[in-house]
Amino acid sequence: MKKAALDWGKLSFSYMNTDYRYISHWKDGAWDSGKLVTENTLTISEGSTALHYGQQAFEGLKAYTRKDGRTQLFRPDRNAARMQSTADRLLMPRVSTEKFVDACDQVVKANWKYVPPYGTGATLYLRPFLIGVGDNIGVRAAPEYIFGVFCMPVGPYFKGGMTPVNFMVSTWDRAAPRGTGAAKVGGNYAGSLMPHEEAAHKGYADCIYLDPATHTKIEEVGAANFFGITKAGAFVTPLSPSILPSITKYSLLYVAGEYFKMKTEERDVFIDNLDEFAEAGACGTAAVITPIGGIFHNGKLHVFHSETEVGPVTKKLYDTLVGIQYGDVEAPEGWIHFVD
Ligand SMILES: *Cc1c(COP(=O)(O)O)cnc(C)c1O
Repeated sequence: MKKAALDWGKLSFSYMNTDYRYISHWKDGAWDSGKLVTENTLTISEGSTALHYGQQAFEGLKAYTRKDGRTQLFRPDRNAARMQSTADRLLMPRVSTEKFVDACDQVVKANWKYVPPYGTGATLYLRPFLIGVGDNIGVRAAPEYIFGVFCMPVGPYFKGGMTPVNFMVSTWDRAAPRGTGAAKVGGNYAGSLMPHEEAAHKGYADCIYLDPATHTKIEEVGAANFFGITKAGAFVTPLSPSILPSITKYSLLYVAGEYFKMKTEERDVFIDNLDEFAEAGACGTAAVITPIGGIFHNGKLHVFHSETEVGPVTKKLYDTLVGIQYGDVEAPEGWIHFVD
């Protein structure tokens, strides 16, 4: 088979209708065996809880082509585990890790021609989702569920190399202290669209969300986690029950500690103490790391390393993690899942 005739390096993060997607139905207490289909639309009951009450979850992960031509996934078991904890929080049936990873494998293999070749900087983005469906009207857990996985090739996040961007502290909250902040649910995102629009309108890449109880500590950077490198060289990331636990963040924490012997800390990060950091970044699957140039708060822009250049520690963490994801740098045990 040949790869699709796409200009891989020019792709953006946008929807593309690829050839196959996986779909499985849950009914009467059990999942069916699931299958690949070609149709990119779903027909569901107008009473589906996913439509009315936000009973839905999603995930995001990528497939990479290695230098030797094989295709691999990065820590798909962690996405499966996170979807399970999201399912528990929203009273949805769990998708087992085995079923989740198998669905990803099937989708990647069936769409092999869309997995960008090594060296293009592009990847195949996978979007697993779990939704409550079936005839219903009252506020309760759905009678039926659909678990699906679809995919599309996405381009390198930074086309001209990594560049820092500025963020502004939002006056809106993204999650309640004991709400669904740690669950990967669409409801968290619907409420973030307007704050994002406000930040973008003012010329910032996105919002910094503070902790919803005291508004003194950093929680999230848009739809990504925050990390800072202290002036003493420690890797610091906020700890809070309303932060979405980013797999990229925990991978960077491990790389910082084990590969670079840096001190690592998960603890409070006070918005009034940004001076403790020499560098800062936002992390998530889409960009891996977005260097933070500055944060606008209380009428002034606090600049970290530089508004135009990525800091040296951020750069080496990025290069190492991306190297692991493409199979160029030796991965910790269990981080790589071969698809073929
Ligand atoms: C998905 C997500 C992240 C990033 O998680 P990764 O596992 O690193 O992709 C961070 N914050 C929010 C709110 C998210 O939804």
